[in-house]
Amino acid sequence: MPARTLLTARWVIGHQDGRHVVHENGEVVIEGQNVLHVGAGFDGEVAARVDYGEAVISPGFIDLDALSDLDTTILGYDNAPAWKKGRVWPESYVARGPYEMYEPEELAFQKRHAFAQLIRNGITTALPIASLFYREWGETVAEFEAAAAAAEDLGLRAYLGPACRTGGQVTDDAGNIRAVYDEARGLAELEQAADFAKRIDGIAGGRIRAMFAPDRIETCTEALLQRTADIADEMGAPVRQHCAQSPVELRLVAEQHGLGPIEWLEKIGALRPNWLLPHGTQATEAEFQLIAGAGATLVHCPLVSARHGGMLKSFPKCRRMGINIGLGTDTFPADMILNMQIGMMTARLAERMDAIRSEDMFDAATLGGAQALNRPDLGRLAPGAKADITVIDFSRTLQTPDPVQTVMTSSSGRDVRDVWIDGRRVMADGVIPDVDEATDAARAQAQFDGLIAKYPDRTAGHPPVEDIFTPSYERAKA
Ligand SMILES: [Zn+2]
Repeated sequence: MPARTLLTARWVIGHQDGRHVVHENGEVVIEGQNVLHVGAGFDGEVAARVDYGEAVISPGFIDLDALSDLDTTILGYDNAPAWKKGRVWPESYVARGPYEMYEPEELAFQKRHAFAQLIRNGITTALPIASLFYREWGETVAEFEAAAAAAEDLGLRAYLGPACRTGGQVTDDAGNIRAVYDEARGLAELEQAADFAKRIDGIAGGRIRAMFAPDRIETCTEALLQRTADIADEMGAPVRQHCAQSPVELRLVAEQHGLGPIEWLEKIGALRPNWLLPHGTQATEAEFQLIAGAGATLVHCPLVSARHGGMLKSFPKCRRMGINIGLGTDTFPADMILNMQIGMMTARLAERMDAIRSEDMFDAATLGGAQALNRPDLGRLAPGAKADITVIDFSRTLQTPDPVQTVMTSSSGRDVRDVWIDGRRVMADGVIPDVDEATDAARAQAQFDGLIAKYPDRTAGHPPVEDIFTPSYERAKA
């Protein structure tokens, strides 16, 4: 019998009869990789006890669009339009030959660094996402081999697969954006991704699984999506497909296929229950109906959407329609608590104050993600479920009478104190073993500064860096 560990805290979010329940002065017993007992009054033997005091022991968060690079969207926060700011390849950059803006070892480091940050924010299951703007084409198997090693080492539960695409966009110097394709290259990379998927699916005691990631829908041809759908179905793996997220995407898809992005997915037979769709902020009523009918998952990333002036319209409506909703961080910081808080606010802005309650958003960050992955053993603390646990400290927080409402009003990712994944304590008192947070942050910053210096190469008209990224206030003269 594996050693048991008993955790106690003022609050425990357990799970009974298909719903989360709150235990006050509760306990959780871990045995091996699983939860053995939740509630109170466990009278069996335990090898170790941890009392978290004023804290909530919560199911770990499931991040379906988990930030896994040094996020370039933060560079666009006060710098638009995207085509003028290095987020659409200019024709001149394509003509000279796109190139990888990071070295392979930098990409490998970034995955490990990102995974550590996900854990720090209480994310226990992650489906990594990164931008392809600074890549030569798709993501590589090599960097995902490194990602698998990092997830295995750090103890993160991860669904891994390199992003593939058969196309991209270019802009001329006036901002006219058009689609370009290299289908043979994208299909070859998909075959490599499929080999990788078969190799890693189920390693690390089942903690690492395969996923497929055709990039944004306007960068994918029908052949890529259909082949992806077939391989993923055969393996029972999830597919993540960005769609209905931008007006340029809607225009490009409409020009080529005469349909909305989700309508097109459905028409070609790719809208299936194992498909996870960020972000849906541009989806029509008819498209929401298609998602609901297919049993697919909408991946809601409220922070990144709101930063760009957008929101899902709306989270409460999608719930009423019966759409499964999961959450994604997708931007820096990878703070799922902040994401839930912004999600609450934008849902209320989209509808009314009483259209959403804290538990609706909390469900999305836990049970919605588990449903998306067809994993009834994740996203909940119940006997037999995986021991994937996030402990959020309340000792410096003004608490409401309810722990979930306290998280929504008063907490931040920085309050995550301990994280357990698969029964292993992967972070204790904010410290991840063998990770030097300050050294890694400095290394990440140096890599990011190097990338910023290269922005003129792939920005229309090739302006200097200081013209791409405008200042808030003028730099004071010495
Ligand atoms: Zn995204």
